[in-house]
Amino acid sequence: MSFPVLDRVPGQTGAMAFLRGAAERPHHAYVFAGPEGSGKSLAARAFAAALLCHAGGCGECRDCRLADEDHHPNEFLVEPEGRDIHVDTIRAEVWQPAYRTAPEPGRKVFLLREADRLSPQAADTLLKVLEEPPADAVLVLLSARAHELPDTVLSRCHVVTFTALPEAFVVDELVRSGADEVRARLAARLAGGNLGRARRLAGSDEGMRFREAARSAIELAAGGPAGALDAAGVVLQAAADYRKGMKDDLATDLAPFLDDRGRPEEAYRGAIRRIETRFQRRERRAERDYVDWVLLGISALLRDSVAAEVGGGLEVLLNPDLAGEQAGARLSVVRATRGMAAVEEARAALAEDINLNTRLVLERAFLRLGEVAA
Ligand SMILES: [Zn+2]
Repeated sequence: MSFPVLDRVPGQTGAMAFLRGAAERPHHAYVFAGPEGSGKSLAARAFAAALLCHAGGCGECRDCRLADEDHHPNEFLVEPEGRDIHVDTIRAEVWQPAYRTAPEPGRKVFLLREADRLSPQAADTLLKVLEEPPADAVLVLLSARAHELPDTVLSRCHVVTFTALPEAFVVDELVRSGADEVRARLAARLAGGNLGRARRLAGSDEGMRFREAARSAIELAAGGPAGALDAAGVVLQAAADYRKGMKDDLATDLAPFLDDRGRPEEAYRGAIRRIETRFQRRERRAERDYVDWVLLGISALLRDSVAAEVGGGLEVLLNPDLAGEQAGARLSVVRATRGMAAVEEARAALAEDINLNTRLVLERAFLRLGEVAA
């Protein structure tokens, strides 16, 4: 049997060869282990399509299309809420549906993103499912830190290893899907080899807007305390705009489950509820994610000014297109490094505690950035 949908996943030849075999006679649980951006999500979607499609993962039918968008009614997707995956989530999204009849005839597929964030109780509940796996269910746990998963969980899963994608490979992929070479290289560098993120950056001018926000923030912060407060405002505004832009996505996601009059079809109430919940979660996270992108953009610009200062050429810059007009170019190595530390501390603080006041964290970081820039 061939699985066309699996052949479309770029790179990761070893992992994909293994999954082609696995799709034929799936085991009940897998861990996809590998660094951020190595293609685990892409592979998981393709694997889900291969398991849910009635034509062996043809890549064309409704099952494949819905699986590719993470919206197949028989697909249950679990992500951390805040920092952890909570026990209630595992109970409602994995344990209960695992032992119920699938919404549509066929298998049920459970995808757990960032599975290393399972709380201890959540891991215990998941373990019960792994110990008595329903015959029609396949679980896939994705993790960049698979070694942090409890041994009891790991030992019941087949581990599929993904390796980091080299920059040249990411560039080739982007060029092959239509991006121009310079843009592709820029996106690959800024994304640190993360293919999914690089695709978004290369895909549209919208994708690079975060860097404009990063450049304005550095300029403003360099102007002193008042500028630092304005810089925080600029970043928050960019993040709010980004969140507003997501609104249309929900309508598109729900369209396949509505009747001609736009009302939910009875059979899909569960699927619709899951899509809505996931969307709300994503929306809540969107502003935080965007703020993180901007901070990462600031870090990259400061890092480039360090690289330029010590005589690094174009090939070592993260923003080669801005060479010669680096926003932080007038900073000494010591100052730019201190600025990076302030920005990285802010990123870590925001990632660690979702209840922090983002504005205050940004203001503090930009005030420090302003001090070192002055
Ligand atoms: Zn198909």
